[in-house]
Amino acid sequence: MQAGRRIEIRGTVQGVGFRPWVLRLARAAGVAGRVRNDPGGVTIEAFAAAGVLDAFYRRLLEAPPPGAAILDVATRDIPGEAAAYFVIEPSVAAAAGRRLSIPPDLATCPDCLRELDDPADRRYRYAFINCTRCGPRFTIARDVPYDRRATTMAAFHMCAACRREYESPADRRFHAQPNACPACGPRLRLATAAGAPVASADPIRAAAAALAAGRVVAVKGLGGFHLACDATSGPAVARLRARKRRDAKPFAVMVRDLARAERLARLDDAERALLASVERPIVLVPRRPDADVAAEVAPGSPLLGVFLPYTPLHHLLLAAVDRPLVMTSANLSDEPIVHRDAEAARRLAPIADLILGHDRAIATPCEDSVARVIAGRPVVLRRARGWVPRALALPRPFARPVLACGADLKSAACVGVDAAAYLGPQTGDLADLATLRAFEESVERLLHLLRVVPEVVACDLHPGYRSTAYARARRAATIVAVQHHHAHVASAMAEHGLSGPVLGVAYDGTGYGTDGAAWGGELLLADYVRFERLATFRPLALAGGDAAIRQVWRLALAALDDAFGGEVSLAGLPLFARIPARDVAVVRQMIAAGLNAPRAHGVGRWFDALGALVLGRAAARYEGEVAAAWNLAADPADRARYPFAVDLSGVPWAVDLRPLVRAAVADLLGGRPAGAISARFHNTLVAATAEVVRAAAARHGRLPVVLTGGCFQNPRLAEGVIAALGSGHTVYLHGAIPPGDGGIALGQALVADARVRACA
Ligand code: ZN
Ligand code: ZN
Ligand code: FE
Repeated sequence: MQAGRRIEIRGTVQGVGFRPWVLRLARAAGVAGRVRNDPGGVTIEAFAAAGVLDAFYRRLLEAPPPGAAILDVATRDIPGEAAAYFVIEPSVAAAAGRRLSIPPDLATCPDCLRELDDPADRRYRYAFINCTRCGPRFTIARDVPYDRRATTMAAFHMCAACRREYESPADRRFHAQPNACPACGPRLRLATAAGAPVASADPIRAAAAALAAGRVVAVKGLGGFHLACDATSGPAVARLRARKRRDAKPFAVMVRDLARAERLARLDDAERALLASVERPIVLVPRRPDADVAAEVAPGSPLLGVFLPYTPLHHLLLAAVDRPLVMTSANLSDEPIVHRDAEAARRLAPIADLILGHDRAIATPCEDSVARVIAGRPVVLRRARGWVPRALALPRPFARPVLACGADLKSAACVGVDAAAYLGPQTGDLADLATLRAFEESVERLLHLLRVVPEVVACDLHPGYRSTAYARARRAATIVAVQHHHAHVASAMAEHGLSGPVLGVAYDGTGYGTDGAAWGGELLLADYVRFERLATFRPLALAGGDAAIRQVWRLALAALDDAFGGEVSLAGLPLFARIPARDVAVVRQMIAAGLNAPRAHGVGRWFDALGALVLGRAAARYEGEVAAAWNLAADPADRARYPFAVDLSGVPWAVDLRPLVRAAVADLLGGRPAGAISARFHNTLVAATAEVVRAAAARHGRLPVVLTGGCFQNPRLAEGVIAALGSGHTVYLHGAIPPGDGGIALGQALVADARVRACA
């Protein structure tokens, strides 16, 4: 007797080769029936003996195709049918069309790579080879449903051979929307920086030769252009830096394969898996001292951002040039990534020597994602290509569609509809006008693809944020301003499916507090509706406001004057040797009088202050530079810590780091190495955090603890707090949602939804 079962699978299951895979699995298992795409995902109706169906079901969930992400599976028994075969049925039209069926872009799969290298294959060395398991998706989609007509591949008409593959259910290119070959698909083209065509029989080899000669080549990728140069050549990298007007931020390096990545960095299994994952992020890894990479790539950093090729074009280029390449987003300093050909010729002319482009348009710009292994697991630091627009499943549906506008420095918006949240690509600092425009376009695109008109718009509490102004200008029925760290905590809760309350540790540089001060060293008792500020750090004076974020010596001075009551001599401190006495006097006056010196509670500011003081670095060339250097300086072996005080008598409780500052100055004057002082600083923060969390747990119960905010991109801090809290607490760190401000929109969306419900 045939049993019947309907299996409904939700998530990213379209455009990733899911149905052909189900077909093969069913045929191998001896299951008859059908599979089809529907607006919400994939539906399978399977018929076989009950035991066979069970085995088939288990295999379904065991190892789905690499690009798939299953959010939810529902099964129920249906009447048996005497079906003889298993077939792929035509799709049910996306009537409601609510859910976003477009998958993220997928790195070239092993099967396609084999064909790419096979001289007998008709796609030998074809730079646009792809299949149902790999290739461009989100970045070529103009509309939903995800169908060739609605992508930038609509301009290319499939030849007979490609069409046959596309229409054969058993073919691995069945309904591969970007399917193409040299006869019918996109073509490479080489051009001068000004856009004039360069005749070449083999554009890839020509570009490789230019790179080997030290030139800068703009390469069209999935979500935009990269600027590439030889990463082993100091002069080439220096030239790129100068032309791009980027004087300090590290560049990412693309290498041909994992074996070559191992030559540059010491990798563990988790890092190898992350590098080779279908998302292919830039992975921050510990660089080998003897790595063959020019010093100019990541000046002074023990880390290197490494990634592997993710398009056939990258594979061919890396094979031809056979050396690590700097591959950095094509733009000028803080501008958005260049993704249109006309724009490339105009904006990249002063930077690139050559443009390796092609005629497949990019519909949606998307930067490379950045990730790092922390506490043994991948943590996404910048969420863009490879992850966007994957949905995050939520335990309950949004009451009304929500748009959350995020924060300014690392902007990313989030749309919440039904029981899913969609975090858009991280764009950049909205202080740049072109970036602001790119952000607005990306929001409109996401709303369009989801067919959502937001009824609730969420934003940061900061009145000066451009994202806040953008939210208000939308004139939605309901606007909800969410406190920055509450949003951070809610974003971590949402990622882990926690309903709250939780103890949320939110450490970052700056976020606008309900009292108007700059928060950022917060312990919150929170659920989605409200929060209580249980603890914070004793603040530092931000002399000159934002000026202190770049001129970090001002923060060091504020920390010293607070710790020593203004009585400390700066004479022995190398940091102050190069700062004019008059500047010091002016800043001291501002601090003492509290004039134009707002209070800052951010843990990130403490990293700036101590980094400036101990490393002798007066200024950061970009936000967080000195803080990052201070983190990276820490000696992994040093386990000692400095004294600190926790004042549990006030509201909120206060962590007082003045004893730490006094001890660190003594160490500095005593000649202790910076690495040891940095390690002790970290260990002290860990101990102080554990102490306030334990005190909070004693009062409010052993609630789940979430770690969030930009400071938890720092493994020493994150791993230290997790270890210090031990088995007594369940501690959650971010994974697929960035701990920094790029992840904040998700939390805003959930808080706004919860507030709307609470008021209803
Ligand atoms: Zn493939
Ligand atoms: Zn073709
Ligand atoms: Fe933040």
